Amino acid sequence: MSKETVSGSPYDIVIIGGGPAGLTAGMYAARADMRTLAIEGASNLSQITATDVIENYPGIPGGANGFELIERFKTQAVGFGLETVSGDVTAVTRTRFGDRDGWEIVAGEQRYGALAVILATGAAWRRLGVPGEERFIGRGVSFCATCDAPLFRNREVAVVGGGDTAIQEAIYLTRFAKKVTVIHRRDRLRATAILQKRALANEKIVFAWNAVVDAIEGLDLIQEVRLRDVKTGEKRILPVSGVFIFVGLTPNTTPFRELVSLEGSGYVTVDANMQTSVPGIFACGDCTAKRLRQVVTACGDGATAAFSAQLYVEELKGEAY
Ligand SMILES: Cc1cc2nc3c(=O)[nH]c(=O)nc-3n(C[C@H](O)[C@H](O)[C@H](O)COP(=O)(O)OP(=O)(O)OC[C@H]3O[C@@H](n4cnc5c(N)ncnc54)[C@H](O)[C@@H]3O)c2cc1C
Repeated sequence: MSKETVSGSPYDIVIIGGGPAGLTAGMYAARADMRTLAIEGASNLSQITATDVIENYPGIPGGANGFELIERFKTQAVGFGLETVSGDVTAVTRTRFGDRDGWEIVAGEQRYGALAVILATGAAWRRLGVPGEERFIGRGVSFCATCDAPLFRNREVAVVGGGDTAIQEAIYLTRFAKKVTVIHRRDRLRATAILQKRALANEKIVFAWNAVVDAIEGLDLIQEVRLRDVKTGEKRILPVSGVFIFVGLTPNTTPFRELVSLEGSGYVTVDANMQTSVPGIFACGDCTAKRLRQVVTACGDGATAAFSAQLYVEELKGEAY
């Protein structure tokens, strides 16, 4: 692991993020002989580590565990010469290295220099913003079924959300919980057909349609959630020991607000080459504005971002051909 500072020679490419997007970018860049560093977040992990099984990543029939898959990505990238460090990046600012434009990346006490930067910081689960949610995190409120499902053996739990992740995690929870109530604000699911079929056929899963959570309540641990029917306004109490929340994502782009153009709720605007609004800064994966946020698309974005960054660096060095 290198602790390059801006006073030394800069990296060709610094990648911020160690998820599927960042590590794929790292593999492509290092394999193309770019001197490349990936800064993996210190205080949060890739989202992929929150899931028990990824069964829609090609080439792995039967699926792969999220932790194992990310370890494989990393081993492969490091094998091609990618350097990695752990740290939370708080700022990226413009600088010069001799007669070349470059970037200074700040992570804690460390400063790294780069000719090109790839943002691959992913996204985090959105909160419901209801009373009790923050208070019961770690005491019944969870954003990761893989991590916490075994704590709810033979208990009744709720899953909030109706997309792929919510339904996949609800199905996983039935391995442990006695009953799983899926609370969804609409009258049908958004999840893909195969997941819907599995959930609807699962005897342990019941649905609270057109319902929203008004509050999560209990003493030391969760005892119940207060539900409201969005059509009739009718209120009811659902006794549960756990609430698993999967209601969408917020991109991890706060440090880049002043750096590049963002859109929607803070997603980085990129073109088809993963170029951001600023030359020399590229972005890939779940932190970008796009339609489908999955491992396979994050990897594809990562490869494209690395190739674009490589072309940019070669041009900057006068090595383009
Ligand atoms: C519960 C769950 C189930 C899922 N199931 C599937 C599935 O079955 N199939 C599928 O294809 N996809 C699934 N996904 C989605 C998939 O995990 C994401 O699409 C994918 O991980 C996106 O990759 P990424 O590299 O863009 O971001 P992430 O995997 O989120 O990685 C982001 C990286 O950036 C780092 N980071 C963040 N902020 C900073 C910072 N300031 N400084 C430095 N580093 C930072 C993080 O530590 C992390 O290393 C699931 C997600 C979840 C949460």
